[in-house]
Amino acid sequence: MALIVQKFGGTSVADKECLLRVAKIITDTYKNGNNVVVVVSAQGDTTNKLIEKSKEINKNPSKRELDVLLSAGEQISSSLLSMMIESLGFPVISLTGWQAGFRTDSNYTTARIKKIHPERLKKELDARKIIIVAGFQGLNRYDDITTFGRGGSDTTAVALAVELKADLCQIYTDVTGVFTTDPKKIGTAVKLDEISYEEMLELASLGAKVLHSRSVELAQKYNINVEVLSSKVCEKGTVVKEVKNMEKMIVKGVSIIDYIAKISIIGIKDTPGIEFKIFSFLSQKKINVDIILQTKELDGTKNIHMTVPLEESEDAYKIIKENLSLFDARDLTMNNQVSKLSIVGSGMQSNPGVASKMFESLFEHGIGIEMISTSEIKISVLINRKDGLKSLKVVHDAFIQ
Ligand code: ASP
Ligand code: MG
Repeated sequence: MALIVQKFGGTSVADKECLLRVAKIITDTYKNGNNVVVVVSAQGDTTNKLIEKSKEINKNPSKRELDVLLSAGEQISSSLLSMMIESLGFPVISLTGWQAGFRTDSNYTTARIKKIHPERLKKELDARKIIIVAGFQGLNRYDDITTFGRGGSDTTAVALAVELKADLCQIYTDVTGVFTTDPKKIGTAVKLDEISYEEMLELASLGAKVLHSRSVELAQKYNINVEVLSSKVCEKGTVVKEVKNMEKMIVKGVSIIDYIAKISIIGIKDTPGIEFKIFSFLSQKKINVDIILQTKELDGTKNIHMTVPLEESEDAYKIIKENLSLFDARDLTMNNQVSKLSIVGSGMQSNPGVASKMFESLFEHGIGIEMISTSEIKISVLINRKDGLKSLKVVHDAFIQ
């Protein structure tokens, strides 16, 4: 008998009709002789609504109380889905995260799983029950409720698949799989049959919010295949797995992050430790620096360019400006009108011509490049934000036929 973990996101359980559709997917899987453990998110935009509600009462609620509140969203959907499955005449039980044995660290709102005690789950499976687990929640060492951060139900699902040694982990969502780019923006986006963990992580960090990054890291660590598919359209999804064939370079995705700023510190006197000084100011302010580029001028001075998220750019600019004399720098500039466009694919490093093809397609359409950064599986360029959609389209067209 196989064990299948199925996770259903907020849009998949949004209302009665959705719950019935999902209940049928689950009970069909069960009828085929499988054991089924289900994870659910809160219905629709319940989590956002709960956050808004909390702010009406207290602008700055404690994270502990926020977790008590947010975990309730998943408890509602798990009980409603159970009731729907009961009504179809199947044996089913809903469990909160803690009933399912999830123990976490004590970081409220961003807790990490420490252990799953599987006894209760195993007991219910032995009784051939369908189990519906409320996503993204557990208990910490003080027996307080914690949640795993936005999108964390994916991580609940993969963690259960690891703990129970599931044969398959399916993440049902509102798209039919992972696409080469956002199909809402670019009509010619193609659904991928499979994608490697690294590529998926890279795309997630670049803004493709299909899977919670931590769920992909967990799946990679334990080598669990995760299928992303739609609860509304019945077709094969995309399997996230270890992909061995790295020889052939295929660009798997093109993505864009729109809200970025580039900060340049110009004419820094070259003294040892200057980089440390600058970036320690930024890290004290918890500013997330992404790309860093340093160049040396003929006169011996240095320029440092960096990118930061737009919402942190004013703070970053301010702290550097205030301390500019400490860095012995001549000038400071900021461009907050940029976007980062990236192509992702394993094997990029060992295949010539990828960068030139990307730059050619931008050049042909008159799009200038502000900054370039590369890794083993990614090439990113900074472009003017007003060219964002156009550049996404031309680069996607260049690589994906
Ligand atoms: N309901 C939570 C959220 O919206 C967790 C999840 O959906 O995965 O972030
Ligand atoms: Mg999600």
